[in-house]
Amino acid sequence: MSQKVIFEKGSPQRRGCTLPKSELPQKEIKELIDPSLLSANELPLPEVSELDVIRHYSLLAKKNFGVDTHFYPLGSCTMKYNPKVNEEIASLPGFSLLHPYQPEESVQGAMLLLYLLEKYLKEITGMDAFTLQPAAGAHGELTALLMTRKWFTLKKENRTNILVPDSSHGTNPASAAMTGMNVVQIASTDYGTVDIEDLTAKLDDKTACLMLTNPNTLGIFEPEILKIAQLVHSKGGLLYYDGANLNATMGIVRPGDAGFDFVHINTHKTLSTPHGGGGPGAGPVGAKGRLADLLPVPRIIEKDGKYSFNYNLPDSIGRVKAFYGNYLVLARALAYILSIGKENIRKTSEMAVLNANYMLAGLKDIFSFPYGKICLHEFVASAAPQKAKGVKATDICKRLLDYGFHAPTVYFPLIVEEALMIEPTETESPETLDAFIETVKKIQQEIDENPDIVKNAPHTMPVKRLDDVMAARKPDLRWKPED
Ligand SMILES: *Cc1c(COP(=O)(O)O)cnc(C)c1O
Repeated sequence: MSQKVIFEKGSPQRRGCTLPKSELPQKEIKELIDPSLLSANELPLPEVSELDVIRHYSLLAKKNFGVDTHFYPLGSCTMKYNPKVNEEIASLPGFSLLHPYQPEESVQGAMLLLYLLEKYLKEITGMDAFTLQPAAGAHGELTALLMTRKWFTLKKENRTNILVPDSSHGTNPASAAMTGMNVVQIASTDYGTVDIEDLTAKLDDKTACLMLTNPNTLGIFEPEILKIAQLVHSKGGLLYYDGANLNATMGIVRPGDAGFDFVHINTHKTLSTPHGGGGPGAGPVGAKGRLADLLPVPRIIEKDGKYSFNYNLPDSIGRVKAFYGNYLVLARALAYILSIGKENIRKTSEMAVLNANYMLAGLKDIFSFPYGKICLHEFVASAAPQKAKGVKATDICKRLLDYGFHAPTVYFPLIVEEALMIEPTETESPETLDAFIETVKKIQQEIDENPDIVKNAPHTMPVKRLDDVMAARKPDLRWKPED
């Protein structure tokens, strides 16, 4: 089952292609480059035929586990199917061959795309203005927190505390720390929502911003959001909406109407770009009112049907990325919004919530649910009952791989014991949801009858259990001939 690496294949002198003999005079490389700069050893390149290469990479590609081939219920990530029409549109030469230094008059259509996308994002979120520059959600967080810092500097207020609930995504405190501000953790209630008492106790004249994900990472909508917004604002702080879970609420409720001052959107989660493996993505940031003056430059403007970039915004925090953001990711987002249309934006969220609740109902007798049995677009189950029998959440996930399902997100959020965070998304059919539920039931039966099968899973994958801590702590990315 295990596959050799490309360096272990082939044989000395084997070649993938041969070139005709050159008729030009030949020179040794050391006549052209100072020999002291040349490596003393030959490069250890693989010596393989074209067919060796094709088969090697085709077989590797077949081992990929992706949403195009398998159900991928990774919670907090919205791994939904991305219609291929968005890929087609993003690869049109008029978009993909653009040069960022082209004169504005020659790229009016491309600028219209950015303008329209900002317009629809404003409508979906209830914000007053957007920047499309940030390259991901975490980058959007950093952008808005830099705006927050500048906002209070301009107001000559010394506010340095960023409040984050203990259920928040790790990027929230990390982004806050990157701006040099202090992270203050807010406790959650037994229902998984913000503990208002703890929040009230921690709000003071040092509070710069409260970062909230709504619905939060437990898949629970914050019922006290209006009260929370009022509380934070009454203390002079700002409210940030982490939009990673926007897939649950589009067309139903707008963060701008709920009192948020900033939002970021993960277009690669909610608005159709394949993600995983590190990108590319986009994390547009919206701002309300006067805060919009602090958005990064340049900002796109329209006058008499002509589009241009405005670089002259004295309060702007400056650029956060070269040029205008990950343009082709933005093209996909607009293509997605236009192709599903206004009514279906809402339906997308409704279906995502329905599918998650259907799955939760199907699993309700198997796992425990410390935060209730109703959710929005995702839910967190606890494998505590299985752990009591010696089987952990990881074991169940490894066994799911044997049955052809990608594992859900595990051990996040940290406040749930043996957490399994499941997000089916709106794009899956009832048949797929049923198949997943039936498989989990089968694994439960194995746990009851022969738990070793589950504890030693996977049995059918190219590799068994990897030491994933070692991979993170001591990455070894160099191939050495002696290996
Ligand atoms: C994914 C996610 C982020 C970070 O977004 P990236 O686009 O991966 O940088 C932040 N918050 C939550 C809740 C998320 O799920």
